[in-house]
Order: sequence, then C-alpha cells, then structure tokens
Amino acid sequence: LLQLFRPLDVLGWVYRTIRQGLIDMAQMFRLIDTPVEVADLPGAPALLVRRPTVVFDNVRFGYDPDREILHGLSFEVPAGAQVAIVGPSGAGKSTIGRLLFRFYDPSSGRILIDGQDIRHVTQASLRQRIGIVPQDSVLFNDTIGYNIAYGRSGASDAEVMDAARGAAIDRFIAGLPQGLDTEVGERGLKLSGGEKQRVAIARTLLKDPPILLLDEATSALDTRTEQAILATLRNVSADRTSIAIAHRLSTIADADIINVLHEGRLEEQGTHAQLLRHDGLYADMWQRQAAEAIEPVLAAE
Ligand code: ATP
Repeated sequence: LLQLFRPLDVLGWVYRTIRQGLIDMAQMFRLIDTPVEVADLPGAPALLVRRPTVVFDNVRFGYDPDREILHGLSFEVPAGAQVAIVGPSGAGKSTIGRLLFRFYDPSSGRILIDGQDIRHVTQASLRQRIGIVPQDSVLFNDTIGYNIAYGRSGASDAEVMDAARGAAIDRFIAGLPQGLDTEVGERGLKLSGGEKQRVAIARTLLKDPPILLLDEATSALDTRTEQAILATLRNVSADRTSIAIAHRLSTIADADIINVLHEGRLEEQGTHAQLLRHDGLYADMWQRQAAEAIEPVLAAE
C-alpha cells in the first residue's frame, strides 16, 4: 500500500512547489508593477517652480496595503522656509522624503509643489527641482571633480570649484596631489564621512535646485565636523525651500517650523522654543538627547 501512495506524495510535492512558484511570481509581478504605479501621465507637463511651497495634504500611505504608515498627514513648507521633520525611529520620517521624490504615490491625499500635484507632472522635472543631501553619500570610483560635476553635466572646472567653495571643500581639493583630477572612492583616495558629505553638498550646489531635502546622517560625525557641516548647510538652505529629516534634534533646533511625527501622525508642530514650552514629545526627546550627550562626559570622570 505504501508503494502505491509514494507517487501521490511526489505529486503533492510537485503541486505545492508549482503553487508556491505561482505565489512567488505574483509577488515578483507586484514588484515589477511598482514603477508602473509611478509612471508619468500621458502628456504630463513639467513641474513649474516659482516660489516652491510644498504641501502634504491629508496623505495616507503604506508600503504594504495592509499596513498603513502615514495616517492622513498634512503639513506645509512655506517657500524659502527651513522645515524639520523629527520623531522616534519608525515614525515615517524618511517615508516623507521618498513620497516627495515620488518613489511611491500616496494611497490617498495629495502632495503639492507650488500648487501642482506631483502626480500630474513629469518625474524627470520633479527630481530635477529637488536636491538631496543623503545620509550616506555614495561616491563613484572616479575623480573628485567628476563626483561633483555629476550634479550638472557639462559644468566647467570653474563652476565645479565654485560649488566646492560653497561646500567648504575647496581647500581640501586644492591640497590634493592632482586637485580635481584626484581619483576617489574604493579604488582611489578614501574620504572621511564629513568629506563625502561635503562632496554631496557641492554636487547639490551645482545642481542648484529650489527645493532641498536633507536626510541627516544617523552615523554621528564628530561634533566639530558636524557643526562645520551644519553651518555650510545653513548657507546652502538660505533662499531655498528645505526639508530636513533629522534624528538628532541639536541639528535642527533653529528650523522655522519643526514637525514632530509619531507613528505616522503629526503630533506637535512649532519652533524649538514653542515645543519646549509645550512640554510634550519633543521636549521629552530633547531632554533625553541632552542626557545622552552628557553621559559620556560623566562616564569619563
Ligand atoms: P528612522 O528614524 O529609524 O530612520 P523613520 O521615521 O525614518 O525611522 P521610515 O523609514 O519612514 O521611518 O519607516 C516607517 C515605517 O515604514 C517603519 O515601520 C518601516 O519598517 C516601514 N518601512 C520603511 N521602508 C519600507 C519598505 N521599503 N517596505 C516596507 N516597509 C517599510
């Protein structure tokens, strides 16, 4: 009897394997479908930017249909203002950046730049108007000049050096054996975290976008480097609409508006002083981070 059932067993295994294969295929197609979701509308015009106000209007979004991450988020970034997004880990801060860059579309609600729904304009024009200074800048295995010029093809050496000056990395470059032609990256000169970030800032300056998205590094730079980079970023952000996604509050305390996000909802909003007076989540986070900054000093004593 056992002999008789063995082939059936094998058949069952084949059936299960094929079925699993179909499920995997379905998942694969869901992935492949993703870019289609954010395709340009036929005949979509380019984004027109004059004074770029950025508006999140009742935005709902989840990477997975059954797990919503942003639950009807609304906030505004006035033209030329510096707005920060803070909140505990997993609150949805980086997701806001990904939606603004249109890697995904909200499931409902709208994101407007200068009054235009970003779903109605070409992605190329949208991404051209937003400069990102990312957490961890990736450098190409090429010259430092190429790495900066990548911000705008066809830029002259003089323009590249101008951008380098704005990012305060010009003197570092001038001290390199081959200046702008020095090879950097895995196969060339290894740059420090701070230097890499300055290359990214120079690249962004060359691109000269009216909107800036600053995704703050989680890996801490030493305090002096961080303060110097912050000063540079402040100069770069002046006159631009900027959104800073921050993990450490010390870096955004002087923002015009601070949005405190908690579990995909806007929990508090205001300036640093207003939020401290409010004595809520922000004030809590501020005190905790201040205590963490003092701890190593106490431990050393
Ligand atoms: P952190 O401060 O830790 O960087 P965050 O506030 O930036 O956190 P997000 O990265 O926006 O948080 O993530 C919000 C939620 O979305 C998290 O629960 C995370 O697990 C989930 N998430 C993020 N990216 C994806 C993804 N690609 N697919 C599925 N879920 C994701």
